Amino acid sequence: MKDILKRLGIGELNQGALTGLNRLDCQGKVLESASPIDGEILARITQADSAAYDRVSQTAVAAFRQWRDVPAPKRGEVVRQIGTAFRERKKDLGALISLEMGKILAEAEGEVQELIDVCDFAVGQSRMLYGFSMHSERQGHRMFEQYHPLGPVGVITAFNFPVAVWSWNAMLALIAGDTVVWKPSSKVPLCAIAANMIAARVVNDCGFPEGLLNVVVGPGEYIGGRLAADSRLPLISATGSVPMGRRVGEIVLSRLGKPLLELGGNNAVIVTPCADLGLAAQAILFGAVGTAGQRCTTIRRLIVQDSIFDRLKEQLISAYRQVKIGNPLEEGVLMGPLVDIKAVEAMRMALEEIGKYGGKLLYGGEVLSGGIYDVGTYVRPCICEVENSYPIVKKETFAPILYMIRYDAFEQAIELQNDVPQGLTSSIFTNDLRESELFLSSRGSDCGIANVNISTSGAEIGGAFGGEKESGGGRESGSDCWKAYMRRQTSTINWSGKMPLAQGIKFGDL
Ligand code: NAD
Repeated sequence: MKDILKRLGIGELNQGALTGLNRLDCQGKVLESASPIDGEILARITQADSAAYDRVSQTAVAAFRQWRDVPAPKRGEVVRQIGTAFRERKKDLGALISLEMGKILAEAEGEVQELIDVCDFAVGQSRMLYGFSMHSERQGHRMFEQYHPLGPVGVITAFNFPVAVWSWNAMLALIAGDTVVWKPSSKVPLCAIAANMIAARVVNDCGFPEGLLNVVVGPGEYIGGRLAADSRLPLISATGSVPMGRRVGEIVLSRLGKPLLELGGNNAVIVTPCADLGLAAQAILFGAVGTAGQRCTTIRRLIVQDSIFDRLKEQLISAYRQVKIGNPLEEGVLMGPLVDIKAVEAMRMALEEIGKYGGKLLYGGEVLSGGIYDVGTYVRPCICEVENSYPIVKKETFAPILYMIRYDAFEQAIELQNDVPQGLTSSIFTNDLRESELFLSSRGSDCGIANVNISTSGAEIGGAFGGEKESGGGRESGSDCWKAYMRRQTSTINWSGKMPLAQGIKFGDL
C-alpha cells in the first residue's frame, strides 16, 4: 500500500489545495483518509482554508486567460497525452481507488479505463466543436453560431466514482478551453490528488500554466459552498445526493451561474413474462450488487410480473449466495465493504423501516463480523419484497438493498417504475417488441436513461449521461455534452452594403 501511494506522489501528510503540481500551504483541519477495507489510515490531508481556496480560484482564472487562446486541436493533443499517462498508471490508480473507496479491483481498474476512454473521446471532440450556420432572411447577410471557451469550471464529485466523474467534466472542459477547480468527496481525497497530479504533470511537461487543473479538498458545505458561490466560476457541475444538488443549485442560480446537476437515482428494472430470465438474473446481479450497491445507477427496484416473480426470486437468491464478500483487492471477491460505517447504519435503518411497513426480507442484510469484517463496513447484500408505495422505497438508500415489487398488467409496471421522485436510469427485460417499444415511447420510462435487456448500471461514455426529475436534469460525458462547457455565440455579418432590418421593419432611411 505504501509503495502505491509513494508512486502516486501521496505523502503521509498532504496539502489539500493544488494548482497543477503546485501544493499550496493550507491551514484547514487535518482530514484522515481511512480505508474501508480494514480501517487503516492511508494518509492525512490538511484541508483547504479560505485563503488557499481563493488562490486556487485566482490561478484557475489566470490560466484560463492563456488556455482559451490555444487552438482546440492543440488542447486535444494535451488531453491525448493525459490519456497516455493514465494508461501507464492504470494499475496503481485502480489499486488506490479500491483502497480508499472499497470497490473491487476489476471495477476500480474499469473506472480508470473509463477515464482513459473519456480522454480518447475528448481528443476527437477537440476537432469537432461545431456550430450551425443558417440562412439569413436578409440578402447579403451571413449567420452562424460559434462556441467559445466558458471560463474556469467548478467540479464537485461524489465518493463512489472517485476519478471517472471528474474526467467526464475535466477532459471536456479542457478541450473546450476551460480550466477546472475540482472539489472531490472528502471520503476519497487521495484519489483526487493522485489523478490530478498525473494529469497536471502532462500539462506541465507540455509547457502550459499550472492552473489548468486544480484541486481543493475540504468540507462540502464550506469549500463546496465556496465553489458554488464563486462568480469567477461560470459553471458548477455537481454530482452527489439530491439534498446536495438542491443546495448547490440554489446558490449557483442565485448568482445566475450555470448549475449542471447529476444527482441520485432510484432505478428500476421491469421483468416481463417473456423475458430471458437467465439473462435478466445475470444483469440484475451486477446491477444490484456491483460496487456494493453504491452506484447512482444501481438497480434499487425490480418490478416483476406476478407469474414469474417466485422463479426470478429463487434464481436471484441462489446467485446472491455465491457472491464472495471480502477484501476488494483479492481475486474472486465480488463485493467489497461499504464506504464507511455511516453507510452501514443507513442500510440497517432502511431495513428496519421496511420491516415496519410489512416488507419481507427474502435474503441477506446482515452486518458481517469476524476477521477482516470486524472493521464494521461489510454487509451481506439483500433482497426484500415490498410495495412501491412505502416511503423508504421512494428514497435512494445508497447500499445493496434490492426491492422486489409485483405487478399484474404491463401498463401498471411502467406506472410503478415512474412513481418515484427520481428519474435517472431504467430498464426492461422482455422479448416482446410491443412491450419494449412502449417502454421507450413517450408513455414509457420517464428517466434520462432507458435500456432494453441490459442493466441500469454500467453506462458507456459515448452517450449523454444523466437523469430527470430529482436526478437533476444534467447531462455529462458523450454525445453533445461538450456544449455545456462552452459559450455559444450567434453572429450575423452584413456584407450587402445596405441596412435592411429583420422582420421587414422599415425605420426611415438616412
Ligand atoms: P454527497 O451529496 O454527500 O456529496 C457529493 C459531493 O458534494 C461531495 O464532494 C461533498 O463534499 C459535496 N457537498 C456536500 N454538501 C455540499 C454543499 N452543501 N455544498 C457543496 N458541496 C457539497 O454524495 P455522496 O455520498 O458523495 O455520493 C452519493 C450520491 O451521489 C448518491 O446520491 C448517488 O446517486 C449520487 N451520484 C450521482 C451520480 C450521477 O451522475 N447522477 C454519479 C455518482 C453519484
